[in-house]
Amino acid sequence: MIQRIGLIGDPVAHSRSPAMQNAALMHLGIPARYELWPTPADALPARITMLRASEYLGANVTLPHKTAVLPLLDDLEPATVRIGAVNTIYKRADGALVGTNTDAPALLTSLREDGQFEPGGQRVVLLGASGAARAAAYALVTAHVERLVVVNRTLERAEKLLADMMLAQLDPLPHLIVLALDDPDVPAYIADSTLLINATAVGWQAEEMPLPTLVVARGMLVYDMVYRPTRLLREAAVQGARTLDGLGMLLHQGALAFTYWTGQPAPLTVMRSALLSA
Ligand code: NAP
Repeated sequence: MIQRIGLIGDPVAHSRSPAMQNAALMHLGIPARYELWPTPADALPARITMLRASEYLGANVTLPHKTAVLPLLDDLEPATVRIGAVNTIYKRADGALVGTNTDAPALLTSLREDGQFEPGGQRVVLLGASGAARAAAYALVTAHVERLVVVNRTLERAEKLLADMMLAQLDPLPHLIVLALDDPDVPAYIADSTLLINATAVGWQAEEMPLPTLVVARGMLVYDMVYRPTRLLREAAVQGARTLDGLGMLLHQGALAFTYWTGQPAPLTVMRSALLSA
């Protein structure tokens, strides 16, 4: 029997995950395929029920279902409860559908890859307060950053993120600050940081910028979760910052999910080259 894995979201047609995951499955000779499963909100419960059949190994979850899927699952990993967003569903040996979030560890792996950046002790500005930013905040707090400033267009959403991080009772908590995107203190916090992360949905269009003014410190790292060169990265590089796009995070979140589904180490080189040519 060919087993099935898929991406649940709406829309999903743009995704590079099938190229990356199918290359890995084929490379290891695993009789399974990764598919796109476009799923409007009213079809989400039936989609999750479908996963219980034996031919399914699990799924990825993307917008707009990363939070809505939580109550439909049998179990959630503790970090996923704190993040409040699921991007991967796998099956436990007893058949239970478990929700996890591989974005959080993938961000840390991609930052640390090749000794690029160790987040411990750093001063970070995080743009955004939705699913990806929540995963990033959790990851950065567990990596013991010194200070985390969460900047979001809608201040209430950033305040909710901060309250949830405090409720999670992670020890030690960094100095946590939230600001609205138009707060006049934002440029000074960025200039005084060692890492700026864009985890907003802004940047996919060539001219989009996630913040009105960019003043970076020379040598700081500017990281964009968008997995293509963006205007933010271009302008940061001109000002002397180091830059990194989200391709490494995409790779590592997929690699962790692959291991949950198949029990096998992910063939990273094969997956990376499939992503680059997708
Ligand atoms: P999302 O829920 O759509 O993100 C919404 C966030 O973007 C909110 O903080 C929102 O602010 C902000 N935003 C939207 N439009 C804005 C605008 N015009 N100006 C300023 N802020 C704006 O998406 P997500 O799932 O959290 O993902 C965020 C980004 O990360 C996406 O680009 C996604 O593709 C990327 N991502 C990459 C990876 C990877 O592996 N590289 C993994 C996950 C996500 P409000 O709260 O004010 O609406």
